[in-house]
Amino acid sequence: MNIVTPTMRRAPAARSTDRPSREEAEAAVRTLLRWAGDDPAREGLVGTPDRVVRAYEEFFAGYELDPVAILERTFEETDGYDEIVLLRDIRLESHCEHHMVPIIGRAHVAYLPHRRVVGISKLARVVEAYAKRLQIQEKLTAQIANTIQEVLQPRGVAVVIEAAHQCMTTRGIHKPGVTMVTSRMLGAFRDDPTTRREFLAMIGTRGTSVLGD
Ligand SMILES: [Zn+2]
Repeated sequence: MNIVTPTMRRAPAARSTDRPSREEAEAAVRTLLRWAGDDPAREGLVGTPDRVVRAYEEFFAGYELDPVAILERTFEETDGYDEIVLLRDIRLESHCEHHMVPIIGRAHVAYLPHRRVVGISKLARVVEAYAKRLQIQEKLTAQIANTIQEVLQPRGVAVVIEAAHQCMTTRGIHKPGVTMVTSRMLGAFRDDPTTRREFLAMIGTRGTSVLGD
């Protein structure tokens, strides 16, 4: 089945077409090294622009991934399974779009199947496809939940992300140990307090007070 809504067409968030060359990207790193007060020509830094550019390819690999395509292969032989499917404690590595420093945490993704299910690793892949972009945690949480809802059309989706932002821990107000908790509840997880409570009990989150009853 292929239902394409306007939101889904936006989902892959295509990479900008005027992408600079690798040489231009490396030159930009050398500029930042000089801005930091160092000498890009000294021995220890000569290979750094190349390494940084390759690291960026990993950090931002999500722009090349299509979350909708990841979820499109589903299985209908579920013997009527209609309880919560939960992938808990998915390692989350993202980057804050305001400071370009890491956001590190974990995501919990659940849905309530309606006739079909998706391979469980695909939920983690969707998290990765959106996390490996420049993000704010609120948008990341919503994008994961909305895409699963739109493509899989389950009876509900719940996404909770708990993460530490290095822009808060290593700079600015320097508050290590602070975790931000965000959630997006759709369908039954939003409308039915019992379903929501069951999900929150399953993930055992310390953030339950933040997430409502
Ligand atoms: Zn930031």
